[in-house]
Parts: sequence; structure tokens; C-alpha cells
Amino acid sequence: MNPSPNTPPIGTVYIVGAGPGDRKLITLRGVECLQRADVVIYDLLLNDRLLEHCPPHTEKIQAPDPRVQATRQTELNQLLVAHAKAGKIVVRLKGGDPYIFGRGGEEAVALTEAGVPFEVVPGITAAIAASAYAGIPVTHREYASSVAFVTGHSAALRPDSNINWKHLATAVDTLVVYMGVAHLREIVERLITHGRDPQTPVSLVRVGTTPQQQIVQGTLTDIVQKVEAVHLKSPALIVVGEVNRLRQHLRWFDTKPLFGKRILVTRARAQASGFADLLETNGAEVIQFPTIKIQPLERVGVPSPDKYDWVIFTSVNAVEIFYERLRERGKDARAFGASKVCAVGPKTVAALNAIGIQPDFVPSHSRGSAIATEIADVYGKKILLLRAKIATADLPNGLRQKGARVDDIPLYDTVKVASDSDKGRDDIETDLLNGSIDVVTFTSSSTVTNFLEMFPAHEPAALLTDVKVAVIGPETQKTAIGKGIQVDVIAKEASVESLVGAIVAACHNLSR
Ligand code: SAH
Repeated sequence: MNPSPNTPPIGTVYIVGAGPGDRKLITLRGVECLQRADVVIYDLLLNDRLLEHCPPHTEKIQAPDPRVQATRQTELNQLLVAHAKAGKIVVRLKGGDPYIFGRGGEEAVALTEAGVPFEVVPGITAAIAASAYAGIPVTHREYASSVAFVTGHSAALRPDSNINWKHLATAVDTLVVYMGVAHLREIVERLITHGRDPQTPVSLVRVGTTPQQQIVQGTLTDIVQKVEAVHLKSPALIVVGEVNRLRQHLRWFDTKPLFGKRILVTRARAQASGFADLLETNGAEVIQFPTIKIQPLERVGVPSPDKYDWVIFTSVNAVEIFYERLRERGKDARAFGASKVCAVGPKTVAALNAIGIQPDFVPSHSRGSAIATEIADVYGKKILLLRAKIATADLPNGLRQKGARVDDIPLYDTVKVASDSDKGRDDIETDLLNGSIDVVTFTSSSTVTNFLEMFPAHEPAALLTDVKVAVIGPETQKTAIGKGIQVDVIAKEASVESLVGAIVAACHNLSR
């Protein structure tokens, strides 16, 4: 029978490895699949920010946990088949690599049996990624010429297990055991019983590649006791072998200046990625807790830029919103005509470059008021100033004092947001009060004010007693102090780079 004309063509399932935790350790192919997905069925991941690659229409479904009940895997397989048969592009997103202890093979078999086309996108498996971030190369010419990935799950330890512990114990130089923390004692005993040297070094690496990465090192003889002492829990890997000796020389991740620090970012989500990236690059765990969002002002009359001698932009937002307004009127960068363009800060310059404009003047400081002092030859000139609604009057006043005629046009407002954070407000409150957040960052006065309004039950000073407060500049500092907040860190220049630099320096001093 021919399929009816209304039957959609069958979709494809992409079985994608999400990598080990660090959200950047996914492949380009994996990201591409997420960007095209109609449906994503994902396991409990170490990093759910990967789902941000999906377009808004993607249906996101958390997979039933197959460990809870044997039937769940069948249910899951049926789910994959049903969505594909409805013509959807389905991504089955799995931690690490899908074919390494991930049941990816079982799912692929089910798809084949159902006649559903599929592709596999390999991922970086925990054994290699977590070891690398721990400073342990799983092979090394002097220490290890072979490596085995083994499951330490209870089934692997039963007498009828098909793991040949007897041979494995001595046949392979590096052993990496997945899912083994709960059975560490039995695993260690088996290895020793079957002839592995009791002095062999062992590491446990918990949630490797993430800012919470935790490592315990010992030998087959004492590792159980050391792990019990710190109550280390799953998910972790057990790495057995001489290669563990290299960690002391090859650590690079958990020695980053902000490793182990939890830092709250309060600026608007749309503006936060550069700042958050920079903090993460320095090893911090970033918690996004936006207190403001950028809202373009609707229907502001935007003048033609070519009617002015100078057009000044003090932020990326202003560039983007202004350009959007031009485009709405069917125009593009040519609308600037012969007028000169001034931009504050490298990000604003980059945003202008992206629309084909090279600014004629960039002041030496990232502060808006620097323009008024440094810009030459504006007497009698017409200036269009495009900014936020709440911007201070220093800049237009300074320009007017030099004899310029200034049109100060607000393009957007920063408005308070209720909840768009990575964690709930109550969790943040608890973390602040018990000191498990190390640094709170404020990048504008409105972030300070809105942040405090979100915790009305607390005196600012009491809320932030155990937390360092870092601010981007003197204006923000003034607002914070005015609210009774003690400011611990202030950026030398009003840029996120400078703020991160100041936080790194402050944390360095603290830990000495
Ligand atoms: N398919 C996955 C493994 C799934 S089994 C992969 O290729 O990595 C789950 C086990 O993997 C956990 O119990 C733990 O032993 C290990 N694991 C996964 N991610 C880890 C990480 N970031 N750090 C340490 N161990 C991890």
C-alpha cells in the first residue's frame, strides 16, 4: 500500500554525544544537530545549557531513567520511534559518548528494528576528558601503553559477570572504571587479589571538566579510606595506573585563578555572555541571576544620522537597536552619509564594525564622559547621542559646554526582571546567606538597586556579609555604598575585562 499523501516522510534520529560536562566539549556536528532538532530527548546531563543550542520550537523531553526500571528503556525506544515516524528531526542527547556505557547501542538496535533512519555523533567520553582535566594522560610512553574502559556497575561484579577481572587486573596499564564509586572497595579488592601491585596509584575524579571537579588520590591500599573520608559520591571515575603520578606535574584546570569560586552575574542575560565566558575561562562557576533586561523603547522617533556632524554610541545595545530601527525603515549603514561616528569601548566598536562602520573616534577610556573631554572640534556641531534612557547627564552637558548642539535620544531602557535565573531566587538567597557564593558582581547602578529589591526581607549588609562584592566602576560603587553595601573589588577601568582582572587579583590575595 502506498503511504497516504498526508503521511509525513519519516524523520531521522541523531544519537548525539553531549560530552563530559564542560558545555564547550561537544562536537560541531552535535551542535548542528541540536540547532536543527524538532525534538530533543536528553538524559540528566551535567550541563543542561547545551539545550540552549535548540531553536525555540524544539520540544525538550527528559528521558525516563533506564536505571530506575527495566521497562523504561523500552518506553524510551518507543518514544524515539514515535517522534521519528511523525516526521520529526529527533536528537537523542546522551552524556559523554553515546556508545560508551550509554545504552546508545540498544537504542540504535531498536531504531533499526523499527526501520527508523539514524546517525551517531560521537562525543568526548568521561574517561579521556575528566582525566585530561585532572592532569592525567591515560597513555604516556613511559607509564602506560594500554588503557581499558570498564564498568564498575554492580552487574560487573557478580560472579557471572562477563568482565574478566582476573586478566584485566594486570593485562592493561591504565584502567578507567565508570559507575564504580559505590563499589570501590570490591573493585580494589579484586584488582589486588588478581595481582595488581597494592601500591599502584589511583585517582577518583568526580564531575570532571566542570567547576565542581573534585579529585581524590591514593593507592589501591588506601584509596577506599581516603574516598570515604571526604564522602565522595557518584558520578566519578576511578583511574588506576602509574599515569596518575603525572597529575602533580600536569595540573592545569583546577589551578585556574578562579577555580572553585562561585560568582553571581547580575547583568542582563543578553549582555552577560562575554563576562560569563571570561569568568569561566578563569575557572569560575558562573551563576546567572539577571536583575535587569534591555528593553528597546518602542516607537521612538529616530532621526536620520546624516543630518548630524557626529553620531555617538555608548553601548552595543544602542548600536543594535538603532540599526534595527534603520532597517525597519528600509535603510542600512549608508544612512550615516558623511556624518562622523564615535564609539565608546571595544565591544561597541565591534558592533559597529559588524554593520560595516569604522568609528572615526574612540576615546581612550571606556567611560562615556571621556568623550566630552577628548573629542575635538565640536563647537557649533550637531551631535546625535544614542543611549539608554537612564544614562547620566554628564556626557551631553560636557558636550554642550564645548559649544555642541546635542540631541540626546534614549533608545532603550533597562527594566527589572522577576526571574530568568539559572537558580531560583530562594536558592540564591540561601547560598548568599550561608556563604556558598563567593562573589557578587554589579555592572551598573540598576543591577545593585534591582538586586536588593529582590531580597526585601534582608538588610543589604546582612545579605552580603559572607560574600565579596565586585563593581565595575565608581558610579556603581557609589550606589552600592549608598545602600549600605561594603564594596570589596572595583575594576580599574569600566570594562568586564578589567573587572575580571580585579576579581582574579582579589581572590589571589584572599587565598594567600
Ligand atoms: N556515556 C558516558 C558514560 C555514561 S555512564 C560517557 O561516555 O562518558 C555514567 C558514568 O560515567 C558515571 O557514573 C561516571 O562514572 C562517569 N562520568 C560521566 N561523566 C563524568 C564526569 N564528568 N566526571 C567523572 N565521571 C563521569
